[in-house]
Amino acid sequence: MQGEEFSQTLRCAAAAVRAMERLDIAPHPRNFTLWYAYHSGVHPDLTSAIDQLIEAGRPMTEQRNEVLYERFFGSVQFVQSIEHTDQEMGELLERTRADLETAGSDAQAFGDTISALTDTVGSAEDADELQAMIDGIIRECRVMDERNQALESKLAQSSKRIGSLHERLDAVKKETMTDGLTNLPNRRAFDSKLEEESRVSGDDGEALSLLMLDIDHFKRFNDTFGHQIGDQVIKLVARTLVQTLKGRDSPARYGGEEFGVILPRTDLQQAALVGEKIRQKLAGCTMTRRGSGEDYGQVTVSIGAALYRKGEDLSDFVSRADAALYAAKQSGRNRVLTETDLQ
Ligand code: GH3
Ligand code: MG
Ligand code: MG
Repeated sequence: MQGEEFSQTLRCAAAAVRAMERLDIAPHPRNFTLWYAYHSGVHPDLTSAIDQLIEAGRPMTEQRNEVLYERFFGSVQFVQSIEHTDQEMGELLERTRADLETAGSDAQAFGDTISALTDTVGSAEDADELQAMIDGIIRECRVMDERNQALESKLAQSSKRIGSLHERLDAVKKETMTDGLTNLPNRRAFDSKLEEESRVSGDDGEALSLLMLDIDHFKRFNDTFGHQIGDQVIKLVARTLVQTLKGRDSPARYGGEEFGVILPRTDLQQAALVGEKIRQKLAGCTMTRRGSGEDYGQVTVSIGAALYRKGEDLSDFVSRADAALYAAKQSGRNRVLTETDLQ
């Protein structure tokens, strides 16, 4: 590293450490990466995101650092992981192709040798000569057998390697479909599931319903108790969804403090009942601070339900559930309304 570059790097590193100390941020490698990048200015979006948070006086909690890291570096890691897997797959396929090609030409050579040897068997003049020819054939067969075994073990190794690469791809795929805070399927997974279920419903004619949920007065939790408690509230709603729903029903974190639940083989009336069950279960929970027992107040949700109309645009389907949710908010919150309640 050149002298100027070195001292610049050192300045950024020192500034990152000072900032973490000042803002009471644990100086582990992920946070260091974030704050080093902030001070080096290589990532203008990151710098302005952090500047905005500082300006708004938001505490730089571990959670917030984590979210920033995921937003600005998580995808880098993800792309690197995919590229790495892709490269390994390519190398593996190339090696396997080369092994099979060698095996093909070995088999060809073996066939040629054997047929040349068999052709000469008839011309043997005595038993010794015949014996020598047969020994020759046996030797060739053994060599071929060894080569076959070597190939078999190479192919077995490749197949094992392909298996583990597949597992890695599955894990990466799961990560792209999962929300980091709640572990629920994320918006991307929700969209893909809704697409799939609408196709199934179009084919088999079974009813498909959708619930959209939004936490009531969620901003109050954030403003009164801080964002970490806000996050706990989001997690509580996610847990309640998982505990209340069964079978084919799929909950997802749609975004912020909003959730979607896809209900295959469910008509609007049944969907409203499912929504009511979620609403009641949540309204019956109390959230208190561990230790002090300080009460955070009741967590409630408003819910809108809609029924899929065959062939419609999925955004229209979601909009109708949203409109019902909006009406539930307007008419007092902590309630479930369906699209038919709007008419
Ligand atoms: P309403 O009953 O009308 O829904 O009121 P509300 O306060 O819940 O509505 P609003 O949509 O105005 O507020 C949602 C807030 O949720 C805004 C945003 O700062 C906050 N929020 C979104 N995502 C997160 C998150 O992941 N964590 C935390 N702590 N807050 C979040
Ligand atoms: Mg909202
Ligand atoms: Mg809300």
